Amino acid sequence: MNQKILAGNWKMNHDFEESVRLTQAICDLTTKKEKTNIILFPPSIFIPQVFAAAIGLNPNISIGCQNVHFETNGAYTGEVSTSMIQTFCKYVIVGHSERRQYFKEKSSILLKKLKSVLSAKMTPILCIGESLKQRESGETFEVLNNQIKETLFELNNIEAKKCIVAYEPIWAIGTGLSATASQVEEVHNFLHNLITEKIGESIPLLYGGSCKPENCKELLSINYVDGALVGGASLKADSFVKMIEIAENI
Ligand code: PEP
Repeated sequence: MNQKILAGNWKMNHDFEESVRLTQAICDLTTKKEKTNIILFPPSIFIPQVFAAAIGLNPNISIGCQNVHFETNGAYTGEVSTSMIQTFCKYVIVGHSERRQYFKEKSSILLKKLKSVLSAKMTPILCIGESLKQRESGETFEVLNNQIKETLFELNNIEAKKCIVAYEPIWAIGTGLSATASQVEEVHNFLHNLITEKIGESIPLLYGGSCKPENCKELLSINYVDGALVGGASLKADSFVKMIEIAENI
């Protein structure tokens, strides 16, 4: 896949003004001719404003939502549904490890979310990844296999082909400690083979976990790494745009 995807997950960071300023700065600093598919995931409350700030400025920038509820409406206090965001968003992150860890989201819930996102004609970015303990005890591939089987492979093939998968080793998220190129290569090869064998074609595979300007050339050059899901380094325009520039030249 030639066109890389660079997705910036701002998590619960940036207030209203910072969100709009960051969006404008990213738009100003990109040339609008990028081939990279740039996706911004602001806090959900600022999605409309970020959408408004980016629209018309750079056609390669789209907006995503960090999480959604699986129902389209109802008595779910504090939640946001696909029907509320689909005007602005093309992508939704499903199953980020922080959702799995802090909000106890299990595969059964994630599968409902995947279906809900797909029915709303948006693209889910399904996050999977092993903990440090699981890696150290040699369970990485079993864990990833189970995470994929219980979610992506429960969809029909037409639905599964519309998804993106992000491999995010939990021990590399927000720690500054990225997976090594050989660890990423091994996992992405494994995922590519697993997915193509089951659904008949490859889908985009992102890497996430302390990806930054210093290491993104190496990580994005690995076979079957179609892009990156970026946390910390997406919070500042200069570092995120540097990564976009690097992605352009791979
Ligand atoms: C993430 O949260 O998806 C992530 C990859 O974060 P960071 O880049 O900060 O490790």
